[in-house]
Amino acid sequence: MPLIKLDNISKFYKSGEGVSVGMQKVSLEFNYGEFIAITGESGSGKSTLLNVISGLDTYEDGELYINDEETSHFIVKDWENYRSKYIGFIFQSYNIIDSYTVYENVMLALEVQNYPRKLRKKRALELIEKVGLLSHKNHKASKLSGGQKQRTVIARALAKDCPIIVADEPTGNLDSESSKQVINLLREISKDKLVIIVTHDYDQVKDIATRKIKMHDGQIVEDKLIKETRLVDKKIEPKIEPMTLPTVMKFALRNLLSKPKLLIFFTALQVMIILVFTITYSNVMHSARNINIGFDLGLSFSQPYYDFNKNYMSDNRMNILRKDGKDFTTADYEYLSNLNGGDHYIYKDVISIDSEIVYNISYESNGRYYYPSGIKFDTSYHIEHNPQFLIDGSFNIENMNQVIVSNAFDIQVGEHVSMYHQAYVTMVFDSIHEGNYIYTITGNNKEYFDSYTYDVYFLDESVFTIPNYFDGTIDLTNFIATDKLPMIDYVKITTTEWKGEDRLYEVVGIYNDANRNVIYFSHDDLIPTTSSSNTFSLSASNNVTAKRLFNSIDKSEYRVIFPNEEADIVKKILAPLYFLFSLLFYSFIYLFALFLYFILYSVMKNVMNSRKKDFAIFRSIGTNEGKLGLLVIFEQLYMVLIAFIIAMITLNIISYYDYSMNVILEQITIIDYIVLLLTFTYLSFWLARRFNKKTFRISIIENLTESREETI
Ligand code: ADP
Ligand code: MG
Repeated sequence: MPLIKLDNISKFYKSGEGVSVGMQKVSLEFNYGEFIAITGESGSGKSTLLNVISGLDTYEDGELYINDEETSHFIVKDWENYRSKYIGFIFQSYNIIDSYTVYENVMLALEVQNYPRKLRKKRALELIEKVGLLSHKNHKASKLSGGQKQRTVIARALAKDCPIIVADEPTGNLDSESSKQVINLLREISKDKLVIIVTHDYDQVKDIATRKIKMHDGQIVEDKLIKETRLVDKKIEPKIEPMTLPTVMKFALRNLLSKPKLLIFFTALQVMIILVFTITYSNVMHSARNINIGFDLGLSFSQPYYDFNKNYMSDNRMNILRKDGKDFTTADYEYLSNLNGGDHYIYKDVISIDSEIVYNISYESNGRYYYPSGIKFDTSYHIEHNPQFLIDGSFNIENMNQVIVSNAFDIQVGEHVSMYHQAYVTMVFDSIHEGNYIYTITGNNKEYFDSYTYDVYFLDESVFTIPNYFDGTIDLTNFIATDKLPMIDYVKITTTEWKGEDRLYEVVGIYNDANRNVIYFSHDDLIPTTSSSNTFSLSASNNVTAKRLFNSIDKSEYRVIFPNEEADIVKKILAPLYFLFSLLFYSFIYLFALFLYFILYSVMKNVMNSRKKDFAIFRSIGTNEGKLGLLVIFEQLYMVLIAFIIAMITLNIISYYDYSMNVILEQITIIDYIVLLLTFTYLSFWLARRFNKKTFRISIIENLTESREETI
């Protein structure tokens, strides 16, 4: 029973319009123990014959038998299996992975066949010694001479204990000394194996060859027995295990590391893509999450910052009145201070605070005037308790008229911020003080105002307005009928005229603004000394504790105005709309990602093409498509992981120094990080798959030919 039998095999190549004959009606038998020399002029079909025998290329006509088994029904997997179990290749153009060392190239074959782990290293070194390259074992293949490369390939072919060795002009590119070494090696290994060698120099092998086959025009013109071989009739079923997953993962890593320049280039490219995408993503997501549908289209600049119910009140803050309208007592103060462990601050006279409205903030920096908008205020207490990254200066505000500002303001420590304070009071008296219908505007507010508007709210929800009242003291009994007086629910007093005042604040510290534009004042600046307190204001160190605080307040005793919570409720009601909008934004942003990855793909495609040779080698020594595909996928995954980490670290570092970047980063939540990572992982996976499809569509020989053409 012949090991290999060709029965009337023909192979044609379609090139352009014409068809050229590779070989025609070839019938041959091969067996163990034979050393076959195939000769013939160039173009006679020698390589074609070899490629067909070794399952590297397909054939059109006839039948090839392996161990008596027909191969016409073979699918890709069967050929992979056959190659990995039976064939060791040695090509003319030493197909070697240039970026690997000699040792790694040999090791590759052992790992691919899952050679016992413990013996691998020893075996690899033995083989390298056998081909005389021990002193070169750690040299990169690209640095070797032709002869050394060819010997490495032989060592690699030997690493696989396979029954058939095919060599296509193995000495074609070698000088005579190297040729001799290679031929001697072949002689050594030919024992018990079937060795088929294509050569144009028959003299080189005439002493070893047992049979000589000559080809011409794709046909066998001579088949001569030189030496009788002792026929070894054995049916070897070589045991070769497929590569394991950890091996594939290791290879992927090694492949990346063996080409540091490429790794750096593509990682940098991906980092850029990830940065661009992340920045776009966070901006778009920010818009998606903060759409205000028909609600609060933004406050005009003339809106007071510290007004009740208004959005410019800090997220951390809530205002509190007693439901019975009485002044706060010490007990109230104690209760409110001690809520939730007391990690919050109480402003006592909130009316006064809220009447001290800052209209304009301006400052001069580098000769330019700035009028930042959307600023919120807090006291220095909070920056001490919730310190954010301080870039310059100090947290300690020692005097009044000192502030710590966000790096959102382009301002240096020691410079001054000028604020134009204007009183624009909205005072709410929750109910009438018993038996007393006289209101007097007291304290330092009074001097600013020229006239007042009184809105008197009745229990039946009707409102009575007294406009343009010019005295700071009013007796409601003069305006409202006696029988309606007990029906008064509360009174809102609004000033209609005011005087302004410029105040200069010295900037003593700059902090990295992780949240919003906040100016931190000293307490003293915001807390007036006068204390007629029927409204308290609680301010927590962040909006989470603020919410907790809000929840813990006894609502039966106190009325709590917490704008942050109200905003949340509106959001909840509009949730379905938000969802639709978000969906829209998401689809938009993912189209963008796809676009970026198409760019990446078109750049990477060319580089991947140049690696076709490597992949062809992997396949020719018995890696199957599935594993090789996995290898490519892992390479991409490693790369995207590295790129992602670098991109995120970069973003974080930049955001410490650049406010606009900080605003971007602030939008990214943990879930976003996960979504982003999954997005890029998926895209890389897609990239690898796309590339795999292209590579595995064509045969190994086509891949090798293509890569050779491209490298020439
Ligand atoms: P040899 O190895 O003896 O030089 P080949 O087997 O490489 O010959 O080629 C045999 C014939 O097939 C030649 O005429 C050659 O032009 C043709 N041939 C080989 N490979 C291809 C190919 N990939 N495309 C088209 N024609 C090919
Ligand atoms: Mg050839």
